[in-house]
Amino acid sequence: MEKYMTCVACPLGCQLTVTLDGDEVISVTGNTCKRGDAYARTEISCPVRSLTTTVKCEGGIHPVVPVKSSVPIPKDKMMECMKIINSVTVQAPVSVGQVVIHNILGTDAHIVITNIN
Ligand code: SF4
Repeated sequence: MEKYMTCVACPLGCQLTVTLDGDEVISVTGNTCKRGDAYARTEISCPVRSLTTTVKCEGGIHPVVPVKSSVPIPKDKMMECMKIINSVTVQAPVSVGQVVIHNILGTDAHIVITNIN
């Protein structure tokens, strides 16, 4: 079986073809560099995404502050992570790089503030 995907590891967006035998990746083609091969294999076995969103903030100029995950999070944990993030409120003043949630859902990802302007 073949699966087709676009590599998102850089803006070039190579069109990848992944040949599978069941769940096993036999080959990856269409990638310009080895990052595409790694992306395709991860996408098949355990797809991950960076999570960017906002967290409620009290006592500041704006009602929310932007945050992101320090490392990509498994896609199947995104909704559960968002429920946790939506339950959190930070108190101003806040700073860029401030960790809002440590090791969310045991993913090794921290939720950190990215911008305070
Ligand atoms: S395979 Fe390499 S060059 Fe192509 S999109 Fe992925 S990272 Fe970029």
